[in-house]
Amino acid sequence: MKYCSECAAPVTTRIPAGDHRPRYVCPACGTIHYQNPKVVAGCIPEWGDEILLCKRAIEPRIGFWTLPAGFMENEETADEAASRETLEETGAQTADLELFSLYSIPHISQVYLIYRARLVERNFGPTPESEQVRLFAQQDIPWDRIAFPVVRLTLEKYFEHRAAGRFQLTVGTIDRRS
Ligand SMILES: [Zn+2]
Repeated sequence: MKYCSECAAPVTTRIPAGDHRPRYVCPACGTIHYQNPKVVAGCIPEWGDEILLCKRAIEPRIGFWTLPAGFMENEETADEAASRETLEETGAQTADLELFSLYSIPHISQVYLIYRARLVERNFGPTPESEQVRLFAQQDIPWDRIAFPVVRLTLEKYFEHRAAGRFQLTVGTIDRRS
């Protein structure tokens, strides 16, 4: 950050009184600009034994497969964000969302919330963000073409739990080496 979003004066970096880490602080209006992690919400859309994946049409990881997910907007709930992102990236309507995974990714300051969700109908297709959208049975998942470690781990856990006959919330941390 270079300029204050409140008054447009150049900001400085310092540790405010009572704080313990450097923040962007505006010397003109006194605003402290805290920067905090972003929440990414998404779905594992289910249709029978198959799940819906999208092939990314945009960077990063263009051409790789992922679950529909994206940054939460202000003033929406996490499950609204997950459904909205699924609709935007796949054209699919989802229902009955159940939280399945919560992954912290501290080195990029993100938190992922992925829900299991029922596809309302078998209706989806390519979108500006996804060059291809299709259902995959477990044996057809393109494991060597998955876009992000958090998606690969979520899918691994999903199929583990499904094989065990019971889905439970899975919580973890993704580090640089994942
Ligand atoms: Zn200011």
